[in-house]
Amino acid sequence: MLELKHIKKYFYVGDSVTKALDDVSVSFRTKEFVAILGPSGSGKTTMLNGIGGLDIYDSGDLVIKGKSTKDFSESDWDAYRNNSVGFIFQSYNIIGHLSILDNVEMGMTLSGVDNAEKKEKAVKALERVGLGPHMNKKPNQLSGGQMQRVAIARAIANDPEILLCDEPTGALDTETSVQIMELIKELSKERLVIMVTHNPDLAKQYANRIIEFADGKIQHDSNPYQEDLKDDKFALKKTKMTFWTALKLSFTNIKTKKARTFLTAFASSIGIISIAIVLALSSGFQTQIDKTQSNTLAQFPITISQIASNQTAPTSNKDKKTSKSDKITAKKSEADKATHVNKINKKYINYVNNINPKLSKTITYSYSTGMNLLREVNGKVKTVKFSNTDSNANSANAMSSAMATSTGVGGSVYPGGKNGQSFLKKHYKVISGSLPTTANDIVLIVDKDNSTNVNALKNLGFSVKDGQKLNFDKLVGTQVKVVSNNNYYQKLPTNNFVPNSADSSMYNNSNNTTLKISGILRVKSSSSENILASGVAYSDQLTKNIIKQNENSDIVTAQKASKSNVITGETVDATTKSSLVSYLGGSKTPSSIMIYPNTFKNKDKVLSYLDKYNKGKSKSDKVVYTDLAGSVSNLTGGLMDAITYVLIAFAGISLVTSMIMISIITYTSVLERTKEIGILKALGARKKDITRVFDAETTILGVASGVLGVVIAWLATFPINAVLKSMTDLSNVAQLNPVHALILIIVSTVLTVLGGHIPARMAAKKDAATALRSE
Ligand code: ADP
Repeated sequence: MLELKHIKKYFYVGDSVTKALDDVSVSFRTKEFVAILGPSGSGKTTMLNGIGGLDIYDSGDLVIKGKSTKDFSESDWDAYRNNSVGFIFQSYNIIGHLSILDNVEMGMTLSGVDNAEKKEKAVKALERVGLGPHMNKKPNQLSGGQMQRVAIARAIANDPEILLCDEPTGALDTETSVQIMELIKELSKERLVIMVTHNPDLAKQYANRIIEFADGKIQHDSNPYQEDLKDDKFALKKTKMTFWTALKLSFTNIKTKKARTFLTAFASSIGIISIAIVLALSSGFQTQIDKTQSNTLAQFPITISQIASNQTAPTSNKDKKTSKSDKITAKKSEADKATHVNKINKKYINYVNNINPKLSKTITYSYSTGMNLLREVNGKVKTVKFSNTDSNANSANAMSSAMATSTGVGGSVYPGGKNGQSFLKKHYKVISGSLPTTANDIVLIVDKDNSTNVNALKNLGFSVKDGQKLNFDKLVGTQVKVVSNNNYYQKLPTNNFVPNSADSSMYNNSNNTTLKISGILRVKSSSSENILASGVAYSDQLTKNIIKQNENSDIVTAQKASKSNVITGETVDATTKSSLVSYLGGSKTPSSIMIYPNTFKNKDKVLSYLDKYNKGKSKSDKVVYTDLAGSVSNLTGGLMDAITYVLIAFAGISLVTSMIMISIITYTSVLERTKEIGILKALGARKKDITRVFDAETTILGVASGVLGVVIAWLATFPINAVLKSMTDLSNVAQLNPVHALILIIVSTVLTVLGGHIPARMAAKKDAATALRSE
């Protein structure tokens, strides 16, 4: 059954050598009860451990059922211990945090026996050792004798061929010892039992073969045996601990030290808490900054006008010398010198249109194009305007009054299309009606107090007084007709043009475009007032459509050809003429372009893109933009980023600290559980399995501290927000992003497992025999 051939095992401590086994050769029968007798330190335990594969011999050979173990791999030894050997120790070696049943089942758990079979075998073994009635007790509720019975049940549960007992009754009283010895004697009828003892009486009474041991050598064998088995058909079932078993082992272990685990998890969660709060705050502040930036930029977009002024600082008068000359120098004013005419041509418009939409989705083109507008009020047709200026104070004819104001035609212009809608949605709240959906929808902009420009309403044909209140439904749905130039003007025999009379036939012309006030929009925050002036606002697409309709109209063609104003007849210069053509809808060139980047960072990128256009161009071909936002505020996200990094760095230090702490805790746990490691190894656990047990423990700790940290950080955002609200009037600044929370839990787990992995590896490397010897 089992044969030792010239086995040697030496221990080297410092300079001294202990020959624990010195050329031992012996054979055992398949069924017998062997007692190994000898004084303490004679090498008995070493031999037993050698037979059991706990302590591998230095030289010689251990032949099991005719198979040499010389070439056994580590996992072969693990499987051998698990399948073929049962150990019974003097100090019982029951895992205290597991139930009795779990202890007995452990060997089978390691070899992957299925649950039902495992339980059946374990219960049978417990009943056999007389523990049937005590099965549901906890190990610490048992007497010494009962503990040893549990150990025996564990040893025989998987029905091994070899039972190895190391002083099994050494810690028991005489009466209990007898019971245990009877039990072992009983078991020896079915298998090989090898028992180490230094008690000759016990050996003589129970064993049927006594081997006397001294100084690592066999001195006497009462019943020698010569093995001649050459079978070599020894199959081993490999062991493997599932991560689930590892988790269960760690979990029950952790349960026995709840307070310590909680404190550890709490302490190591501090790093997570601080990082989570920093992230929550910084993303909250970032949102605020983004909001402010986009509001500022909406109020002060990058503007490219036909007439721009170079933003150069005026030269100071102070350093000019008093002249002694008797002549006068004619000089251009600084302001005139700074004035620059931008050539906004097709090429430039294309260039602007090609701005990366990620930097700026919203671009508005405004045109100095007039509109021929009519509205029917109480059955009467009136000419109306989208203007905020007082028409009584400015009673000159439509064309010259429009051109007198720099805004051209009046009313505010917002970008057309989908981007325009989201632009409006971002800064305005619909208080009645709906957002515009087509170019023919116009809106009424009101301030936070629901007020709007009285002149805007008057110009639309409403008879209102300053301070008068109107119902929403009086305004929403209001219709205005746009009349084409050809229908609006008639040519006189003098070749001059005059407007036709604004009557219902003109109003009802089927070529007219019908505009409708689709809704009333109110600015969302006071900081976004002035983005569009209160009053009527419309899409730049509407102007484009009108230009399309009128660019080849009779009056435009005539104006283009004439040297005088085709309405008044007065002679005009080239500049005035081109303004007239624009006003009549004869020019596709916008009078100004407004670009709305979302953030200051993006604005800088847009600016450098615009600068690139001017590279290498002559001064007069350069297009100059105005960047009012640049001079308003420089509150950039960059500073916020820097602060966040610094804070995260600090928080990271506490995370590292907690990682080190976890390592220490795991290391302590390894020390505490040395015995358990030995037991698991004796039952056939692999090195990997031991690592796994401790990795599982740190995983539990890592997840616990991560979740705890995130929960605490989340709870902390409430008081933090309350304090910030009272200090800054900003509400809900700290917002813990769920994605951040999840990442932090994962980070905590990974770091903790990493921190605990080195001690876990150390645990796995522990020598099983040494681990079992430890107290
Ligand atoms: P016994 O079981 O007969 O009391 P052991 O087999 O425990 O004897 O020990 C035999 C000898 O080997 C003793 O001198 C012991 O000190 C020594 N020994 C056992 N294990 C180790 C070890 N891991 N390192 C060094 N010496 C050891």
